[in-house]
Amino acid sequence: MRRPLTLLIKPAAGLCDLKCRYCFYRAQSAGRANEVMTQSTAMALLEKLALLRPASLHVVFQGGEPTLAGLSFLRSFVKALEALPCPLTLSLQTNGQTLDDDWARFLSAHGFTVGLSLDGDKTANDRYRRTPGGGSAFEKTLAAAALLQKHGVDFSILAVLDDENAAGIADAYRFFRSRGFARLQFIPCIDEGSGISLSPATYGQALKTLFDLWEADLLHGETVSVRAFDNWLAILLGQPPESCANGGVCGAYTVVEADGSLYPCDFYCTEAYRLGSVFDPDPFGENAVRRAFYRDSLRVRETCAACEWGFLCRGGCRRDRTDDLTQNLYCAAYRDFFSYAYQRMRRLALRLSGGERTQPKELNR
Ligand code: SF4
Ligand code: SF4
Repeated sequence: MRRPLTLLIKPAAGLCDLKCRYCFYRAQSAGRANEVMTQSTAMALLEKLALLRPASLHVVFQGGEPTLAGLSFLRSFVKALEALPCPLTLSLQTNGQTLDDDWARFLSAHGFTVGLSLDGDKTANDRYRRTPGGGSAFEKTLAAAALLQKHGVDFSILAVLDDENAAGIADAYRFFRSRGFARLQFIPCIDEGSGISLSPATYGQALKTLFDLWEADLLHGETVSVRAFDNWLAILLGQPPESCANGGVCGAYTVVEADGSLYPCDFYCTEAYRLGSVFDPDPFGENAVRRAFYRDSLRVRETCAACEWGFLCRGGCRRDRTDDLTQNLYCAAYRDFFSYAYQRMRRLALRLSGGERTQPKELNR
């Protein structure tokens, strides 16, 4: 049976023109060649996709910084993807440093949705997102946002939350709104050796502050998307969440590194989780490592089974869990937030569904 396929492709491996202090991928890809994908690797991937003929294909270009592969590489790669006999959707995650009119025209022409990394106003963004020489990346990222707006590219802001940025989340939200950014995503910073992290108490408070601001905007007729809230509302409306972090299981996509190696998740691109390579005969077929990755992601369910918020929270992202994968590090934050906002979320869901009663879909646990 033909199935939908989602690929996160790293055409420039871990290469990046910034040196953000909290970056997990710089450490993860250290010691590798970190070179732009060769034509032979790109061809091998495209040939396997042509044979597989997925029911639909969603491709996310990510890095490092994927634009460092060059516009001509992306142009010819996307042209080949568009020639495949399946519906195609395209995304790109960027820090915006290299975007110019040509890039923005290309992204617009091919209907990309873009994620732009920006942690807030200049003070917040300069805190950790720096050039290799220690300079500010802020103005170039803002200029990239203006270019995306000018060319009508659908984009969202991706902001990382540590304790300091989370404490200023109201300022960040107001700054983004003042710039006309209507799609926002905030992700917790996990300390993977950087010494930068987000505590559950600060995260819980940040979610509550953010929800108050977001709800007020929605009730005033302003359309603002905050990804986590959208996913929880979707669950309340009986729809599947689009984010794997809200889905309760891992394994929804495959990472393709520039050298052709395959991994089950961007946070797990290490030798222990290597699924194989695009040069294998059946790279997207059944795989013991992928099965184990999926199975291990279910371990949190025992801890969450008795939780009143389990149907909504679903244990969160595996990356945010204790080493034995049985407990989400932000459990206290989620309990705090759901206790605070659940009734109001339900009212919003009712409003969005035109007043019909909503029946949250519970997971089969
Ligand atoms: S709030 Fe905690 S116990 Fe409840 S579902 Fe979420 S992670 Fe599990
Ligand atoms: S670890 Fe998190 S991001 Fe990765 S597949 Fe699982 S839920 Fe998704």
